[in-house]
Amino acid sequence: MSEEFDYYEVLEITKNATAEEIKRAYRKMAIKYHPDKNQGDESAEARFKQINEAYQVLSDEGKRAIYDRYGKAGLEGQGGMGGAGGFEDVFGDFADIFDSFFGGGGGGRRGQRREMVDIAIELRLDFLEAVFGTTKEVHYTWHKPCGTCDGTGGKRQSCDYCGGRGQVYQRQGFMTFSQTCPKCHGQGSILIESCKTCQGKGKESVEESVEITIPEGIDRGQRLRVGGRGSQSRSGARGDLYVVIDVADDPVFMRREDDIYIEAPVFFTLSALGGTIEVPTIRGSKEIEIPRGTRDKSQILLRGEGIGNVHTGRKGHQVVLIKVIYPDRYTAEQEELLVKLHESFGQDGHPHKGLLDDVVERIKRWFS
Ligand SMILES: [Zn+2]
Ligand SMILES: [Zn+2]
Repeated sequence: MSEEFDYYEVLEITKNATAEEIKRAYRKMAIKYHPDKNQGDESAEARFKQINEAYQVLSDEGKRAIYDRYGKAGLEGQGGMGGAGGFEDVFGDFADIFDSFFGGGGGGRRGQRREMVDIAIELRLDFLEAVFGTTKEVHYTWHKPCGTCDGTGGKRQSCDYCGGRGQVYQRQGFMTFSQTCPKCHGQGSILIESCKTCQGKGKESVEESVEITIPEGIDRGQRLRVGGRGSQSRSGARGDLYVVIDVADDPVFMRREDDIYIEAPVFFTLSALGGTIEVPTIRGSKEIEIPRGTRDKSQILLRGEGIGNVHTGRKGHQVVLIKVIYPDRYTAEQEELLVKLHESFGQDGHPHKGLLDDVVERIKRWFS
């Protein structure tokens, strides 16, 4: 797969396609170029591989972001395209989607139960680590088949319920449904004597550390895939490691997608007179203008002061929510000044008069 091709072009989609559009395009293209439908056609097979490679990257938010910004070169550094990303693995992904697309009903080569070799770990980041991206060393455990019993768990006997197929079939009209064998749980055989080394588990644990590149702007719930760092199947191939991101809250900054919100307390005299205050931003601080007569709960927008989007790098905004603060008590002198100020406004200091008095009069007349 050394040939250069554009992932978006291969799937015939635009660069801002949504996850749903990518999935739809993938299904369409994968069905069209599937080797089963194009037997002996080498160009279709090559295209099918490209489609799968494109989908593996574009369906993964983290990888897509890296691809968008750095191209394929960016993905190579983090083992994204290496490891188990071969044809077999790709076919597995395809089978999953194929199944969900046609509403289940396996059979054929999809009938075999896939070993669960992909693993997921959670990685909690500080607020600013997620905002700016970082590298993180993570320690985790993966499994490989037990060396003593070769992953079988011990001495086994073919399952009599499913005849060793792992699946049981049921005919309904012209449709055949398959179901995982309830007796052997899809394994096709039953353990009759446990292996001493693994106590019948068939696997052993391996500790590993891997350095993860966290892209700028990643958010809670997004996941990164590290190809070929999952558990090892009996065929020797390793699955993928999924790193699910969690992000700690910040005491000052609130995040909504790529926008940052902060609450800025402003003293009532300043909000009345106008002036400037200094507010923190994720990149430092910024002096902002408080216009004369700024009201409580009003918002001041700082364009481009938000978080760089994980896919596009385009920066969000910062929204400053104004909270007007009134003092709980006044000194005698302050009180006197306030009263004086109030009286200086004369009639303007009583805006409710005239407006509301008329209504009061009308209501009174109604009841009299
Ligand atoms: Zn064993
Ligand atoms: Zn069975």
